[in-house]
Amino acid sequence: MTARRDAKPQPTARPPAAQRHHRAIADALARWFARNQRDFPWRRRRSGYTGLVAEIMLQQTQASRVAERFPRFLASFPSVKALARASEDQVLKAWEGLGYYRRALMLRAAAGMIVGQFGGRVPRTCAGLRRLPGVGRYTAGAIASIVYGEREAIVDGNVRRVLTRLHEIRRDDAWTWNEAQRLVDAARDPGTFNEALMELGATVCTPRQPRCGDCPVKRWCRGCVSGLPAANSMPARQARKRIEHHHAVVMRRADGAILLEQRDEGGMWRKMWQTPTIECAKALRVGEVKRAAGVPMANLHCCGEFRHETTHRRIVFHVYRASASRLHGRWCDAGELARLPMSNAQRKVLALSGIAVDSPARRPARQRRGNIRVTR
Ligand code: SF4
Repeated sequence: MTARRDAKPQPTARPPAAQRHHRAIADALARWFARNQRDFPWRRRRSGYTGLVAEIMLQQTQASRVAERFPRFLASFPSVKALARASEDQVLKAWEGLGYYRRALMLRAAAGMIVGQFGGRVPRTCAGLRRLPGVGRYTAGAIASIVYGEREAIVDGNVRRVLTRLHEIRRDDAWTWNEAQRLVDAARDPGTFNEALMELGATVCTPRQPRCGDCPVKRWCRGCVSGLPAANSMPARQARKRIEHHHAVVMRRADGAILLEQRDEGGMWRKMWQTPTIECAKALRVGEVKRAAGVPMANLHCCGEFRHETTHRRIVFHVYRASASRLHGRWCDAGELARLPMSNAQRKVLALSGIAVDSPARRPARQRRGNIRVTR
């Protein structure tokens, strides 16, 4: 085809205004992040494996708590192969204190799949990552973008809040994911941008009192201009928590061994170990606890109670002590009590009944000797 002689020279192509707008926001965030990011262990050493462990831990646990547990978990399972080889009890033990123990079992299953089906390498793409147990759209996007530099959006509560405030209107989920994708498409480095956006939501654009004066994207924020950033993105009122009563019976044999049982596959604290526990909607009297337990025991008495809150439940633990001897089950000596995975609530049960168990994971190696200590 011949060019027309009278055609005017075309101006150099410029990205559309919307794209320039997104690029400016992404650049401002990246500059701010370079100066203000918090120092977390998973940011110091990046690989597909460390990214997977960190993102699964961060799904439902505060970053500060993950920062405490993450190095110890990696010391126990330094590679995906080591994690795939570990027993469920070992992985649950290393997960103690992080809560939502189902994630630990999923992570172990994901490691098994990576070794068995992906040649020991964590998949690089969202599609590959989403085949792993426990990895959804957000987690896959986070690993793909932050570890491997893929242009994948991520949306969690922090990102949703920031984008809602920037546009001063609550939109649906599809809009939020699209807007996050437009921003990540415009960013120079997708991983840095995604981390920066989450960091902004966690530290500056916080739910109750956003610090707009310190915000790097303030000049583009409609919510801030209208003075309504807090009002237009407060989370919906929290659902009322379910109240439960757990009656935990610490049964002790003459030689000091304690009876433990393992929880089932489903529900809360899955596959963790505990003292025999009767769960119901109302508090039981001593005689009712004895009948509900349905096993021979002597000297049953209540040592106290405490409250334990989870996201959806308010649990009152009633702690009992009893002596028993002829029961079948797993009688644990001090060493086993320290080694088996137990929830924080169950460790409180033992403490309240007068038994302090030192978990080897919580102490330096040279101190890992002691075991059960009767405190009263
Ligand atoms: Fe949030 Fe304020 Fe920044 Fe807007 S200016 S994104 S409301 S911190």
